[in-house]
Amino acid sequence: MAELHFFTGTMDSGKSTLALQTNHNHSARGRVGRLFTTHDRAGQATVSSRLGLTHEALEVDQEFDFWRYVVDSLTRGGRIDYLICDEAQFYTRDQIDQLAKIVDELQIDVFAFGILTDFRTQLFEGSARLVELADRMNVLQVEALCWCGKRATHNARTENGAMVVEGEVIVVGDVDAVDQPPADVAYEVLCRQHHRRRLTAARAKAVSLAPEPLPFG
Ligand SMILES: [Zn+2]
Repeated sequence: MAELHFFTGTMDSGKSTLALQTNHNHSARGRVGRLFTTHDRAGQATVSSRLGLTHEALEVDQEFDFWRYVVDSLTRGGRIDYLICDEAQFYTRDQIDQLAKIVDELQIDVFAFGILTDFRTQLFEGSARLVELADRMNVLQVEALCWCGKRATHNARTENGAMVVEGEVIVVGDVDAVDQPPADVAYEVLCRQHHRRRLTAARAKAVSLAPEPLPFG
């Protein structure tokens, strides 16, 4: 029986790495799949992981119809055993419905990978629908960590180094590298407490370096 799998975790938790590994495992067993992504950090139509692995993929824009794509491919004699869907948080509700229909009606496995909530702590459209429809939901075991060492559960967006909680939902950026000047728009994973208090690593460091008042004035 085919299933709709949803693998979720924060940014930096290894979702794209797992997507590529899943594709490798299935193709090594002679199964034929298709990879999809949208707004990948490497640019259009590539699934890329921070560990340096990449694989070409089909780009999913707002108008893309998974159902029509798969039915057309099969009609033309193509073989599809499974779909790998990376960055699935950005897919539309309709597109996730199409994926569920492909699982049920065509018995094709779908492995979807995505972040659960956006930088405002609200569910992404695609992820919300996946939570509602998936046969299996898996929270990734490689846990990203907040600068304080606690498990990072939230994604923060920073603009020129300062954390923001308003703006367009989809702005592509990456997790800032340590020892690099802050990018215009970047992301950082935080625990809930530090997300609530908007205390990013850079701000925490600035606060800790601020001169403290002497104990005996
Ligand atoms: Zn923290």
